[in-house]
Amino acid sequence: MSARVLVVDDTPVNVKLLEAKLLVEYYEVLTAIDGPSALVVAEDHIPDIILLDVMMPGMDGYEVCSRLKSNPVTAHIPVVMVTALNEVRDRVRGLEVGADDFLTKPVNDVALFARIRSLVRLKRASDEWRAREATAVELGVTDAAQNGIDQNAPGSVLVVAEGMYDRDLVTETLSFQGHAVELAENDEQALSLAKEKDYDLVLISDGNRDQDALRLCSQMRSEPETRHRPILIMVADNADGRLAKALELGVNDYLVRPIERDELISRSRTQISRRRYEERLRENYTFSVNAAVTDSLTGMYNRRYLESHFERINARMAEVGKPISALILDIDHFKNVNDTHGHEAGDEILQIVAKRIQSNLRGFDTAVRLGGEEFVVLLPDSSLAAAAAAAERLCLSISETPIVVSSVDAGLDITVSIGVACFLAGESGLENMLRHADAALYEAKRTGRNKVMIANACTSLPDPGEPVHDTLPSPERSTSPERVAG
Ligand code: GH3
Ligand code: MG
Ligand code: MG
Repeated sequence: MSARVLVVDDTPVNVKLLEAKLLVEYYEVLTAIDGPSALVVAEDHIPDIILLDVMMPGMDGYEVCSRLKSNPVTAHIPVVMVTALNEVRDRVRGLEVGADDFLTKPVNDVALFARIRSLVRLKRASDEWRAREATAVELGVTDAAQNGIDQNAPGSVLVVAEGMYDRDLVTETLSFQGHAVELAENDEQALSLAKEKDYDLVLISDGNRDQDALRLCSQMRSEPETRHRPILIMVADNADGRLAKALELGVNDYLVRPIERDELISRSRTQISRRRYEERLRENYTFSVNAAVTDSLTGMYNRRYLESHFERINARMAEVGKPISALILDIDHFKNVNDTHGHEAGDEILQIVAKRIQSNLRGFDTAVRLGGEEFVVLLPDSSLAAAAAAAERLCLSISETPIVVSSVDAGLDITVSIGVACFLAGESGLENMLRHADAALYEAKRTGRNKVMIANACTSLPDPGEPVHDTLPSPERSTSPERVAG
């Protein structure tokens, strides 16, 4: 995996050293020798990760980190603080300003590359969701997910630790912070609990148990229910190799024994609030996709969906030389219905008409509400004859049974007029197709309503083959719009 790394250090030889190591592994390297220039480079070049020296004259690493994290453009870039200090106090201070990890000078290669790979991978996964969210926010269908997330809200934590010391320390510390802590007896139980319940975090202790923590991590990463669950692993002080392996397997973060309470609190909190954020992104995405392509009154797809769906269908049918038909349906005298029975009754009628349309189509036909009291049905692989027959069936399905709405005692006689157009796939865009169907619809309205008319241009097309799904006879051909039902 390649990535763009920004190295920040006020000592040129340190920069050179890290740069050399990274270049050997084919990373792209950017450098800065002080805080202010690091901020500029980060904003201009958006690196995948920043290795940040702590002790620098003027603006120190904490200050730089805090500024990076409060700028929306750079907030999502992981920051690894590179420091000669190895006091818990300093680490906790780093975590408080948003640092994602720490490396102690002199930097150990295994640790360095394990951190980079793991953080870049985590970042890419969340970049994906943020990109989708940006589109949704742009479309105006959702608010940014970050709004309203409480960074300190407690979460639910599953602890997998046999060693008494780890277990008691973790349970007490996290419970005291308000988190709901549960203990797993062994790895089997841990896995089944994690699959069953929606924990915000799983804490796994490595190296002081009979069972292999790395195996559990790997199992969790391969099961769909637990694939995205944050894992925090606790490792021994001298276990660099195992830690690197754990990061490789996809654990999100780690703690080195002896476990420090403040660090435990801080790292757990980060994982929990990050999970909330990603969860929200996911929900927003599903919601916004639905909202963007669905009509809220009828639950039908909308015009936006039709546009992209048509492109796909048109291309696919063109490959096999099939026709596509489109119907435009418009409710007759709907304004009168609204005026007489009220807008709410009108809304109910729209919902029922939508249902009737949908229940009279084949599975691969698509009905959308174009707007107002107009609907479009797209019939892939459908000849003109087949489309006309389908239109006739729809027309009848609306008119033959009066529609009952809540505010009116008697059922209402509602009718629709329908225009039909058919083209060989690839020979017409959606706009053109709808224009022709609309002209036919206009003729249907003009000549009495509650009927189906076929577009002029389409009646002169050669029949593109056998009717595919309907066996009703082909309507008569003529050069003027013709009536096939009424
Ligand atoms: P025509 O037979 O020629 O189609 O006559 P019409 O009255 O149906 O056509 P017109 O375009 O004059 O009026 C359409 C009406 O549809 C006007 C508008 O109030 C109503 N309408 C559009 N959208 C909605 C909606 O979401 N709910 C309700 N209740 N009415 C709607
Ligand atoms: Mg320095
Ligand atoms: Mg109408």
